[in-house]
Amino acid sequence: MNIVNAFKTLIMHVIIGVSHTLVIIGSSLVFDNFILGNWINAIIITICVGISNTILWPILTKFLMKFMVVTFGVGALIINSAIFYLITVFIPGVSASSLESFIIPLAMAIATTILSNIAKIDYYDRYTQRIANYVKKEKPKEKIFPGLIILEIDGLSVDVLKEALDKDIMPTIKKWIESNSHTLKKWETDLSSQTGASQAGILHGNNEDIVAYRWVEKDNNNKIMVSGKLSHAPIIEKRISNGNGLLCDKGTSITNMFTGDSANPVLTSSRFKLFINSYTPSLNVVFLDAYSFQRVFILFLWEIIIELKSQLMHRIKNIQPRLRRTILYATIRAGANVLLREMATKTLIGDMSKGEINVAYASYVGYDEVAHHSGVRDDDVWNVLKQIDLEFNRLQKAEKICDRHYEFVVLSDHGQGNGQTFKQRYGITLANYVRRLLPDDMKIYDKHTYISNHFRDAYIPENKQIGTLLDKVDDIKNSDFFSDKVENLKDKMPDFITTERIEDFRKRYRSDLDYITKHDSQEQTTKKAKDSTLIVLGSGNLGLIYLTQWNRRLYYEEIVSLFPNLIPGLVKHQGIGFILVDSFTNGPMIIGQDGIYYLNNDKIVGKNPLENFGENAAMHLKRHNTFKHMPDILVNSFYNPENEEICAFEELIGSHGGLGGSQTRPFILYPSDWKDPEELIGAKSIYDFLKDALNNLKNS
Ligand SMILES: [Zn+2]
Repeated sequence: MNIVNAFKTLIMHVIIGVSHTLVIIGSSLVFDNFILGNWINAIIITICVGISNTILWPILTKFLMKFMVVTFGVGALIINSAIFYLITVFIPGVSASSLESFIIPLAMAIATTILSNIAKIDYYDRYTQRIANYVKKEKPKEKIFPGLIILEIDGLSVDVLKEALDKDIMPTIKKWIESNSHTLKKWETDLSSQTGASQAGILHGNNEDIVAYRWVEKDNNNKIMVSGKLSHAPIIEKRISNGNGLLCDKGTSITNMFTGDSANPVLTSSRFKLFINSYTPSLNVVFLDAYSFQRVFILFLWEIIIELKSQLMHRIKNIQPRLRRTILYATIRAGANVLLREMATKTLIGDMSKGEINVAYASYVGYDEVAHHSGVRDDDVWNVLKQIDLEFNRLQKAEKICDRHYEFVVLSDHGQGNGQTFKQRYGITLANYVRRLLPDDMKIYDKHTYISNHFRDAYIPENKQIGTLLDKVDDIKNSDFFSDKVENLKDKMPDFITTERIEDFRKRYRSDLDYITKHDSQEQTTKKAKDSTLIVLGSGNLGLIYLTQWNRRLYYEEIVSLFPNLIPGLVKHQGIGFILVDSFTNGPMIIGQDGIYYLNNDKIVGKNPLENFGENAAMHLKRHNTFKHMPDILVNSFYNPENEEICAFEELIGSHGGLGGSQTRPFILYPSDWKDPEELIGAKSIYDFLKDALNNLKNS
């Protein structure tokens, strides 16, 4: 059998050699500046390239590896072309400029890639062995306990995973489930169903105060924090980490948002400020031979072509809903789906071969990226999942030749929902809609121009009454803003509740719900964002409204008295499912078009606004309401259980971040001989489950 394989390899080498020769001859006909002379020279160049790649590359990479890594692989392509250029210099009668020296080696690599695909030769079959040799593993002297490799498929809901398995798109995972080596289980995210909150919970066991993907910090000069932003992720990690993250004991974090307290994170946002500073030897394996990065680069270019083709097909077939996708997005997609994927797999194989890590957590981010733009069930995403599954197959094969045994867990951090965006449906962004419900000129409430003394004392940023207001909360608790009971507490009431406006409201409306349903919100003309003291953010189908003239969260009563049109106008909009506001008298309230859910005592007046949002919706919202930096009004889009549609407040047709449908239903696939974790609710439950598993592996 080995002789047959060796013969096959030899034949393959000859075929590739011939193809390279033809590429060189072809290039001499295309490029004026590439002079080949006799065609025999093409064979000589091919042989020289082959020899130098075998002999020169390993020597060069010893010195230049760091250069290749910190240049994100471009350095590797430059070295490839320098080698080619030198060869042409030494062969009499041959000459090439730097441009051809860059293009021709790439064209040769394209030929290799195409032929390998035709012959169904997986590049990794040999590359894995090469990595193993490179890391020069020494046989462990004593038996080491098994390590754990955790593979995250960003954004894949259990529902879409099951569909992919039915369609035979993910054969590796299907085999694990069917052979009963692994058990599939769904889990439920916390309210903010997005990577920032989920990875904080899974990797650090703590996602407190992560309100959404992005939020405003009123007490921090209205700074807008963004979970994945390279300059913000380190700040967030500092707040959530206690040093006992999932990866603190010889663990590695690869292509994640947070490190999980890993000492050597690779391509991780919270340690990624400058790529040049984030060199880690683990990445060396990405550049082991001359072809290794060329192949990644070719796949990168190919992904761009696939995306451009998809854009065209979506337009021709008029697939709806559809986003306008640009060439820039095509590059981002190729980066997420090819570059990061290839780097993650190779780094993992390197670390597993070395056998020193106890645990790794790597994210495959391609599905989330493509589903956001093409849709959750588009043909594009099935192809992405097929590729990710192939990576898992490669990792499983690599594990078999490792000295140390590794167990695999596959999970996702959240799902995604689908549907036209808010703007596509209603022709207006949430921010502009909110502005319409506010006074024409919000500057009236600016501390330099406001008129009312009530407002001056209660609401201007430097006011000291906040403490007093909170002191009085206990007295006023459980009394209804609109009920007569408030009268008895009049002398204990903060100023704003006794304003004339509120008196007027109480005359006109019997209750909160009466006000919501009967108040006719007048819409104003749209104001320009720069004139406004209002920040509206979208995190998928979660909207965050911050009235930034006040340096704390406003109470429901304050919002009602300041902006009577705002709350009824919001909840009566078709695109909005419910809002969360904090009442001074009644605590957190969920307000829908036809009903109010008082979270503190689970009292529902009218129709339950959380009816379609899952049995734990109230629990998640109650917890969320305690978070620092909560917006004055938290908005959740509608959710239609019949067609599972939601609508995003940002321009993404696949989206997540709020409540409703499969976005809160990710999955975990774990070894079947582990103890059943029963119910998994919240990202911290995954942290606890995996921490336990790591302990058990260590003691096995
Ligand atoms: Zn996403």
